[in-house]
Amino acid sequence: MKVQEIRSDFPILDDLIYLDSAATSLTPEPVLEAVLSYYRSYRANVGRGVYRQAQIADQRYRDAHLKVAGFVGGEDGTAVFTRNTTESINLVARGLDWKRGDRIVTTLLEHHSNLLPWMRLKEVGIDLEVIAPDKMGRIDLADLERAINKKTRLVAMSHLSNALGTILPAREVGRICRERGVLFLLDAAQSLPHMAVNVKDIDCDFLCFSGHKMLGPTGSGVLWIRELEDGKRNGEQRRAKGQRMSSHASKNQDSGKKLGGTELAPLLAGGGMVEDVFDDGFTFKRGYEGYEAGTPDISAGIGLGAAVDYLARIGIDEVHDHEMSLTRRLLKGLDGIGGLEVYGPGADSPVERGGVVSFGIEGLLPHEIALMLDQASNICIRSGHHCCIPLMRHLGLKHGTARASLYLYNTDEEIEKLLGNLEQIARMA
Ligand code: PMP
Repeated sequence: MKVQEIRSDFPILDDLIYLDSAATSLTPEPVLEAVLSYYRSYRANVGRGVYRQAQIADQRYRDAHLKVAGFVGGEDGTAVFTRNTTESINLVARGLDWKRGDRIVTTLLEHHSNLLPWMRLKEVGIDLEVIAPDKMGRIDLADLERAINKKTRLVAMSHLSNALGTILPAREVGRICRERGVLFLLDAAQSLPHMAVNVKDIDCDFLCFSGHKMLGPTGSGVLWIRELEDGKRNGEQRRAKGQRMSSHASKNQDSGKKLGGTELAPLLAGGGMVEDVFDDGFTFKRGYEGYEAGTPDISAGIGLGAAVDYLARIGIDEVHDHEMSLTRRLLKGLDGIGGLEVYGPGADSPVERGGVVSFGIEGLLPHEIALMLDQASNICIRSGHHCCIPLMRHLGLKHGTARASLYLYNTDEEIEKLLGNLEQIARMA
């Protein structure tokens, strides 16, 4: 991978060492150009106007959805554009028609965005079973098997831990869910920008991720929904379908109509999403439009399409290899610093991991480490609980961790600079 060439697309890096891409990535020039070109050359609303300019905007916005679905191997499903992973997960939590006593299984490793939406459902009588990971962030598949019972409707799990960097066994969990007739939602916010993720391999029903963590604009996120054929899924699927009717209380809804994916009600109702409206109800469109009521964030969606083009041009496997090489170097260096502890899989660990590395230095708070790096050398890292308070409590990390996270534009020199700074900080602590 030609990192220097890539870096020329990110002028912001000229005087900055950015190691916080797990929070949000930087934006390359071609993505900025795609966003600006919408505003400069063909701005119009989408899904509405018949004039040529509106048709161009509509086509570009539609193309972006297709590109995103193709990027995850999910051409036959529906990529719905949301603002972020959080909204995508909430859409599923609010859109499935739950019954009192239904059970959801998740893990203690989750970001709040993949925990709180399920916790809220306790108010309507949902049981939430939370599986605890070990210190390395691994979950035991036997625990998952045990947690799934006849009442379980959904398993919600992240693919790559934003706090410890551990990769979770998505394919195995997908297989278990399929065998047990349970829906599977994968939070791919941290994996998809950095490694090949294929919904067919994983066999998930919902894939949630953030465009803004994969070189896209802020305000871009995705919920990919599996396309299902009537009755083929399992009992769970048929049950959800029947319930959809009553939850909408719309007499005129066509009971035979399939949505663009699994049976899921939209979060918002309003303009742009309807097929027909009657005195006492409405039917909503197939595909993504049914889930994107109101004027969407058009430029963010088009920018996300450009981000997918950018990543595809470089090759996601190349991105992954580059990041893993940097991660190995970083872990090896951290291993040699006295008083510094890595949380999650370290230098010699066989546990599969990504380029998110958490650590602490004896005698210093994570925020202090981050502030020192910033002030001394313009190095940006994240510090704190990383929206994983239950996990931090479980691990006994009251103040959280310091976290460096890597992406395609980072270099060996930047890693060395970080290590040099940390060595000095640890010596002074
Ligand atoms: N899940 C994981 C694993 C994450 O790392 C994040 C972002 N840190 C989210 C969900 C939430 O993403 P967003 O803020 O884009 O909604």
